[in-house]
Amino acid sequence: MNGLSIPMRRSETYVEWGGRAPVRRKDAVLQRSLHIFNKPYAEEEYWKRVDELKCAMLDRGEYGRFFPADFSMVGYQYSMGELYVGYAPSELALFGAPAFDPTKGNVNTGTETFPSSELPDHLNDLVAEQHVGRPILDSALGRSYTMTPSELGFYQLHGLPLPREHFLTRITNLFRHANGPIPEKVSCDKCDKQIVTWKNVIFSGKRRVLCRPCYLQFIESR
Ligand SMILES: [Zn+2]
Repeated sequence: MNGLSIPMRRSETYVEWGGRAPVRRKDAVLQRSLHIFNKPYAEEEYWKRVDELKCAMLDRGEYGRFFPADFSMVGYQYSMGELYVGYAPSELALFGAPAFDPTKGNVNTGTETFPSSELPDHLNDLVAEQHVGRPILDSALGRSYTMTPSELGFYQLHGLPLPREHFLTRITNLFRHANGPIPEKVSCDKCDKQIVTWKNVIFSGKRRVLCRPCYLQFIESR
């Protein structure tokens, strides 16, 4: 743990400091003693419960571990970690991350779904009643998306191609063009000086990176 932990009075609850400011959430337990998940207990009952919880977690091998990946409600493969790093299925399995099942917890679209491969190639061939406001299946992701009338209007106005991928895939691809939060050591492409830049899922290993002086020189020369 890099941050500072502040033990609360007569409680095992603590606030973690991510930086200078304490982490504050509406549902966080702050300045409260003898509470478990915001529920107050009499002191004797509280310690008995804490003991039971600790013993159960020790038995399951969970005590002291970082939050497990199966705690993620959105499905780990749609997390920021996946956006910026792109874990392999074997890595996700090691981390205990369950694969999100797109058939559960979503709106039941019945048989009305049609695959995105059936979208017409040209905007002019689109039939609003047939293609707009209906669930379109992205077969690669196994999830459905839809196109609203105003969205279609935008594509028509700007002559843009119809989206054939789920918006999560689209936003992942967009994000991956930006540098991520993981540092990466590289050599300046011009003077060979060792510098630190930021990992980029798409461009790392394929891009030219310049140190600041070489970059400014490059800009001024143009
Ligand atoms: Zn340089």
